Amino acid sequence: MATGRLTIDLDAIAANWRALNAASAGSVETAAVVKADGYGLGAGRVARALAHAGARSFFVAAAEEGAALRNALGPGPRISVFSGHMAGDTDMIADLALTPMLNSVEQLTRHLEALPGHPFGIQLDSGMNRLGMEAAEWAAVRELIEGQNPHLIMSHLANADEPGHPQNAAQLTAFRQMTDGIGVPRSLAATGGILLGPDYHFDLTRPGIGLYGGLPFAEARAAASLALPLIQLRDLEPGETVGYGASWQAEKPARIATLSAGYADGLIRYMSGRAQVFANGVACPLAGRVSMDLLTVDVTHLTEIPSYFDILGPDQSIDDLADAAATIGYEILTSLGQRYHRRYIGSGA
Ligand SMILES: *Cc1c(COP(=O)(O)O)cnc(C)c1O
Repeated sequence: MATGRLTIDLDAIAANWRALNAASAGSVETAAVVKADGYGLGAGRVARALAHAGARSFFVAAAEEGAALRNALGPGPRISVFSGHMAGDTDMIADLALTPMLNSVEQLTRHLEALPGHPFGIQLDSGMNRLGMEAAEWAAVRELIEGQNPHLIMSHLANADEPGHPQNAAQLTAFRQMTDGIGVPRSLAATGGILLGPDYHFDLTRPGIGLYGGLPFAEARAAASLALPLIQLRDLEPGETVGYGASWQAEKPARIATLSAGYADGLIRYMSGRAQVFANGVACPLAGRVSMDLLTVDVTHLTEIPSYFDILGPDQSIDDLADAAATIGYEILTSLGQRYHRRYIGSGA
């Protein structure tokens, strides 16, 4: 086997969903966000495990993702689409029973004309300025929408991973001003919003990253581990260099391990000289540049050379690796490549 082994723990994902579900009152529904192929871990497998654990509502970014998810989940669970009802999506929305989260008056008009009576939700902008109707647009159509019986009204927080950020309270106030008194279920919180406390929970929460073991849910169980096989080992004389650009040079006799995985597998080039892998718990720094298919690692200090090196596991979380690459755990997960040998453990039960 010349590719890395990516192990995805469905029981950990289910346990994270249960823990986030337990963080809000029993009356609050906990949905699951499985966009971007379940944050890179396989939307179908992840969603089936979460449905087994009790999730009844799922969110994706695009209707195409919703269509694939419907095929994996079968009829029953609600599948909502953050990008709403885009031109060309009508057949998918109708045939696969997707629920678009309409984000503009234009989308609202398109939806009511093309699919009268088909379920939908509404997205409001409470200050993030990304998706959703502005307060004035909303005021203009609110009465019309209330008469159409939307299933959910939602907005999204821009700074929920920073509990002290003043924009959280400002967005909460804006969302309340736009929706208080409406007889429609409401949703504001993703993972970060759940952790901000009950004021932010409303009727439904939409966790994503916390399910997959990432910050800001610090208590999350890791969902992904990744081990990379050793392909070749070599000894270097002082002065010899490693890799493209000769960016690493041996100062003393050194030993370099070449591992199978590179930036084409989502181990981004910026990790060069910054990240590390682990040999049975012993840290080994990357030496030289990450190339498309290969990593080179300084293993001079090892007394025993394993056949696999861990890059995600108990010694290094997605957020640790993200720190070394100046990014976030979300990007590490969603960048995980298609060449790995993927293995699922657990069932979500
Ligand atoms: C991605 C996303 C979520 C999930 O966010 P996490 O931070 O991963 O929990 C929830 N709501 C919306 C609108 C999103 O785009």
